[in-house]
Amino acid sequence: MARPHLHGYLDPALPTMDAATISELNQHAARDLAKRSLPGGLIVLLALLISATASPIMDGASSIICSLFTIMTILVLLRLFSIRLLFCQRIRLKTWRLLSYIMFSISAAVWGFYVAASFYLYQNITINMVIMMFTIGIAAGAATSLFIWKRMTQLYLLLIFLPITSVIILQWNTLTASLIFGLAAYLVFLLVQAKRANTEYWRALCVNKLLQKQTNELVAARDQAEKASQAKTEFLSSMSHELRTPLNAILGFTQLLASDPESPPTREQKDSLNHILKASNHLLTLINQVLDLAKVESGKLELNLTEQHIGKLVEDCLPLIKTLADEKSVSLDIAPAPDCPVIADAMRLKQVLLNLLNNGVKYNRKGGKLILSYDQLGNHLRVRIRDTGIGISEKHQEKMFRSFSRLGQENSSTEGSGVGLVITRNLLEAMNGRLDFDSQKNQGSTFWFDLPLANN
Ligand code: ADP
Repeated sequence: MARPHLHGYLDPALPTMDAATISELNQHAARDLAKRSLPGGLIVLLALLISATASPIMDGASSIICSLFTIMTILVLLRLFSIRLLFCQRIRLKTWRLLSYIMFSISAAVWGFYVAASFYLYQNITINMVIMMFTIGIAAGAATSLFIWKRMTQLYLLLIFLPITSVIILQWNTLTASLIFGLAAYLVFLLVQAKRANTEYWRALCVNKLLQKQTNELVAARDQAEKASQAKTEFLSSMSHELRTPLNAILGFTQLLASDPESPPTREQKDSLNHILKASNHLLTLINQVLDLAKVESGKLELNLTEQHIGKLVEDCLPLIKTLADEKSVSLDIAPAPDCPVIADAMRLKQVLLNLLNNGVKYNRKGGKLILSYDQLGNHLRVRIRDTGIGISEKHQEKMFRSFSRLGQENSSTEGSGVGLVITRNLLEAMNGRLDFDSQKNQGSTFWFDLPLANN
């Protein structure tokens, strides 16, 4: 692993990258640079042609100009050829960079030499101004197209400006002094801008690459997690089916034995049969819960969402809750339901109510209270189930709604599996509702859920 070190760019702020990524980024940048610098050679060639035709240099030193023109033409053709090789991946990046280094340097030197010769041989202000304007344009073009390669940009600009500056110094006077000052300021400005653009380009390229890599990793992790979750759901679902069949047989035959009129069981045998029945029923509830959880998690839950009068469903649940409440001396305070139906699946809503009421009694104190009340909130009906029981500590509240988490009740005598609330919440969400709670240790808990009203 190494830090990104690309075309001379080294950013300590970026994390380390492997050699393959760095080479990929260098390849990307080289192509970018090739595309950006493609018109550069042609522009220098045209500038040479236009300015030399208008200048007396064409008469005085035509052989030099023709040689420069030939060199530039060969360079343009060579550059086109090398770019083609780069894009077809028929040249090694190192070789391409060396070739480009030579070609860009010769191209800059040709222009620098041409301008210096023109300034030295002819003091024609108009022509020299035209050539100077071309030089400024070429330098700006080089800075904006070669900035990806910082060292090359610096060398290119120096090769253009150094011969001109030398000639101007040779013809020293107040006018040339101010020209030198202007050129130096312009050169510094271009170098600073190119450096800044270089830093921003490489940073963006590296960050982009890292983001792309992280996104790919996240997508792969998500796919893997989804596959694992799917496998778990399928396993739970098929296991639960397989377990239910023999368990129903155990329950059936135990009931038969317990109530056989021909050979009635002794008192001791009856006690044992009752133990088997209790344990089997508990196991069946657990298996049914796991099956429900698998269904909810796999999205295979089938719901029949219709208008429901919640008061009627609460009434259906009360006899079941009352037995347990009487055992624990918990008093029930059930408010009358408002006359506004909700949209829900009757069987699943009953399951939700049973689970919350059951918990309200199970985790209550002896002699405690369980209060059920309603509130109409906009287009929702809120149902609150408050108990005066053991409550849930803040530490445990964070782990609420996690499958198989019993929040400190693992070793208590209160029976449970830790999946009821997860199923309840999922069921409510599937019915376009939501579940939440509020609890204080040793004070009690309030679980509430919202369901959409029917007449909306
Ligand atoms: P179970 O009751 O089968 O353990 P649940 O999913 O219904 O599973 O509840 C998960 C856990 O949340 C319980 O084990 C219990 O610790 C806590 N809990 C649920 N309801 C209450 C309540 N009304 N008061 C206190 N704790 C509760």
